[in-house]
Amino acid sequence: MGVTSYPRFCANSENNRPEVVRLTGERIMAGRGMKILGGLVVAVAAVGVIGYGVVMNVPAVQDTIMKRTIAQRLATSGPAALLDDGALHVFLCGTGSPMPDMTRANACSAIMAGGHMVIIDTGPGSWRRIAEARLPAAKIDTILLTHLHSDHIGDLGEFATQSWIAGRSTPLDVRGPTALPEPAADTDSQGKSFGTSSTEDVVKGFALAYNSDAAFRILHHGADHLIPDGADMVGHNIVTPDYNVLQPVYERDGLKISAFLVDHTPIKPAYGYRVEYNGRVAVLSGDTAKTESVERFSKDADLLVHEALNKEMVQMIVNGVTTSGNPRLGDMAHDTLDYHASPVEAAEIANAAGVKLLVYSHVVPPLPNAIAERMFMRGVDAVQGDADVKIGYDGMLITMPAGSDKVEVSKLP
Ligand SMILES: [Zn+2]
Ligand SMILES: [Zn+2]
Repeated sequence: MGVTSYPRFCANSENNRPEVVRLTGERIMAGRGMKILGGLVVAVAAVGVIGYGVVMNVPAVQDTIMKRTIAQRLATSGPAALLDDGALHVFLCGTGSPMPDMTRANACSAIMAGGHMVIIDTGPGSWRRIAEARLPAAKIDTILLTHLHSDHIGDLGEFATQSWIAGRSTPLDVRGPTALPEPAADTDSQGKSFGTSSTEDVVKGFALAYNSDAAFRILHHGADHLIPDGADMVGHNIVTPDYNVLQPVYERDGLKISAFLVDHTPIKPAYGYRVEYNGRVAVLSGDTAKTESVERFSKDADLLVHEALNKEMVQMIVNGVTTSGNPRLGDMAHDTLDYHASPVEAAEIANAAGVKLLVYSHVVPPLPNAIAERMFMRGVDAVQGDADVKIGYDGMLITMPAGSDKVEVSKLP
């Protein structure tokens, strides 16, 4: 007992005592440090609590913050310069599909060049992406539809109304496919047939649906603020070209857009669009299975925005839905496999065409995390060749500057 420790301290007190003192001093210093740190944390927390209390309870402080935020927002202009910088821009305002996805609106792309903005497809939720990016919506003069599926036209009324509110004062042109060559064979119990409406009819329907809304706004704000002509929409049916033939649909100030047939059978006609401006070329596939026309008209394009459905992943969903007791929904999900292209098929097209950048849009299924993204891209690297390949996202801006071969990707807002 004590014998071993006592001699140590006594026999060599010269060596031991300073160590004891030093260790004790360190502990004291550390203790003081912890106290100071603890005090600081408490002080910072107290300041935070007081600050939070002031902000949440003093109206004058809230007003000041609100005014400052408004001023800051107004001081930074939206990206209006995108229309006049000599470049061809493609903004993705919707990269999703009818499968629910919190991060993706339905099909929508905005073309900006030569002082004009042309929208290709107005899928549900896509107007919000234009507004969030603060794009100059009053400059939208034309909307092009790839086909008349609901996930490509649902926000047409919002685009027409909101671009009018933003300042558009002339009727909005909407161009798209004719009706099916033959109406669907099945009718409803009243003998009503389906498949008879063309783009002209769809536009008339939207204009009728929004007719009262237009009146409410003119009555409320006055025709000097909301020019009545701007409330109008005019639909035009694109003359259906032969397969592998380009059909010009838009040409203003050097911005040229042509339609071509794709394969979204049984949806006919369904279009892809080729966009040209200042020597730069972008192609948007619309909804299609892998088809030769996309490759033909994407030859040496700077950008190909191609739809993509990963068939293995969707098959897993089909199996899950079916075995969980909903074979009807499983069957319908299975039906989507043959009229869309896979990421690998789209990459094969991009490689064969010599495209610089391939961007996937109309992404199916939703990709909630990095694991799903890896699965979606499985096999792409083996076929993409020299093409750069990216999964598109809402807010993606692809810029092709004039006099350059660069293809730049950024994000708005
Ligand atoms: Zn679609
Ligand atoms: Zn479709």
